[in-house]
Amino acid sequence: MSETRSTDDPSSGDPSGALSAVPAAGSRRGLTVNGSVKYFYGPMDCGKSTLALQMDHNHSRQGRRGLLLTRLDRSRQGQITSRIGITREAVEVDDDMDLAELVRKSWAAGRRVDYLIIDEAQFFTPTQVEQLTQLADDVQVDIYAFGIATDFRGKLFPGSARWFELADEVLPLQVEVLCWCGRPGRFNARVVDDQIVRDGATVVVADTVAPAEPGTADAVRYQVLCRAHHRSGDLGPSSGEGTLPLTSQ
Ligand SMILES: [Zn+2]
Repeated sequence: MSETRSTDDPSSGDPSGALSAVPAAGSRRGLTVNGSVKYFYGPMDCGKSTLALQMDHNHSRQGRRGLLLTRLDRSRQGQITSRIGITREAVEVDDDMDLAELVRKSWAAGRRVDYLIIDEAQFFTPTQVEQLTQLADDVQVDIYAFGIATDFRGKLFPGSARWFELADEVLPLQVEVLCWCGRPGRFNARVVDDQIVRDGATVVVADTVAPAEPGTADAVRYQVLCRAHHRSGDLGPSSGEGTLPLTSQ
């Protein structure tokens, strides 16, 4: 097509044409650097909370000040708890909390905030995800969010969808969780009485406890499956073993 381009086409080599609208590298130095927004996602039991706390440790060791936020953590006590036993105090967020306001209040109280660690990031509302990304843009706070991409039906959580749309980087966690068949497990099946269920509330608040009494109405657990076995509902030869016993509250 280039041979048909006329010589007065502004894009055909004239430095005063379209390309000169892009500023030279040097003129960008005056721009404020944004905080970065990273969304790390993986299935249940892939160690997200452990990695969230490790991320906090790495940054605080460099003298940075962080704020930890969570929703519906398995402890339900305003903290981030990992399955390998590490625990840190965290702000328990609810649907109505304005997270920009939360950070402003922290500053007003003289507490610097350089970064935010968001655990259970899939449970934050899309509006809250927007508030967090705006903090990165407006006041250069770094946002490190850790969550589950899809719910028990294999559909994106609304919060996760917003993270996928807005984050600077979306990173699958590298800790593999396997289905009973050995394939990578990416789906969190909800299981009641050893049967996969496909209808119900998006969020069944759950905590890791001893297996619930079989046969009780609220005995719910989750099991990580591959796509094929999530579709077929096959929970494997020893369903119940090596899975997460969870109960609805
Ligand atoms: Zn499988």
